[in-house]
Amino acid sequence: MANPHDAKFGTERKNEELSYAFLEGRLVPLEDAKISILTHAFLYGTGVFEGIRGYYNTEKSELYIFRLRDHYARFKLNCRFLKIELPQSIEELSEITVDLVRKSRFHEDIYIRPLGYKSAKRIGLKLDDQNDVLIFSVPMGSYLSRDHALSLMTSSWRRIEDNAIPARTKISGSYVNLSLAAAEARDNGFDEAILLNEDGTVSEAAGMNLFIVRNQKLITPPVTDNVLEGITRDTVFELARDLKILYEERTIDRSELYSADEIFLCGTGGEISGVGSVDRRKISSGEFGAFTKQIQEIYFQAVRGMNSRYKKWLTPVWNV
Ligand code: PMP
Repeated sequence: MANPHDAKFGTERKNEELSYAFLEGRLVPLEDAKISILTHAFLYGTGVFEGIRGYYNTEKSELYIFRLRDHYARFKLNCRFLKIELPQSIEELSEITVDLVRKSRFHEDIYIRPLGYKSAKRIGLKLDDQNDVLIFSVPMGSYLSRDHALSLMTSSWRRIEDNAIPARTKISGSYVNLSLAAAEARDNGFDEAILLNEDGTVSEAAGMNLFIVRNQKLITPPVTDNVLEGITRDTVFELARDLKILYEERTIDRSELYSADEIFLCGTGGEISGVGSVDRRKISSGEFGAFTKQIQEIYFQAVRGMNSRYKKWLTPVWNV
């Protein structure tokens, strides 16, 4: 089973030469979008990124980018942590992104990766000069199965604490923490990893937020438990409200994973993915539970422009 952060960027597109990237202030063909090996962000992981999806609706011949402005709002906030000041507003970044996707002529599901980064070409640990932003986009379908329930393991690696590298920031260097956990899970025959905090409570999966269902209620760790403040997590809250499903943000103990009625993961890349087992202990029947199915169904309708109630979250690229 692949992980969101393993996607083969663009390698499956035959007309790859048509893809563009925004680099150093202009749109350039993806294959020419190159940076120096001296770039600070490359040497030290001093970048802040986003992951955004676009969904193609064949019937409407339209490509919808999901919660584009919300992603850039989080991006701008997160850039502050590394003192990355960018001249572009949320609106301007959104416009550049739509231009880039149009120029690349995408008529398929895509993934968009903006990166704000320390662009100085030098050795040395400083955060006080030269910032830039790059954006690229590639075709991308689902990489976690939409119908196979995932097998998870609790990782021996702990989630980074807020006073080490804040987990809420999407700092590129901090993804080493998740890579270690994801690799450990894969090497041991599991699909995905769950990371615990230093105090043993549940944080999140490697690149996805986690929900459990207990007593007819969705429960997810609060934003102070070293999780990314996920946009899909927030989307699930709104969908749950609309479906009249109760939800709660509270700390989750490891043992609650084993006694949960259902568990699902959520994220831009991983979408809504049901969990069948944790540490080889079956969750309920081992298949997708009823709440997971309900949330998954309405989520996929929303992102693909099949439910007018959620049009507010969509940026149409082609305006057909
Ligand atoms: N946690 C982590 C660590 C992530 O990298 C992601 C993916 N961005 C998520 C959760 C899910 O966040 P979102 O729903 O905003 O994609």
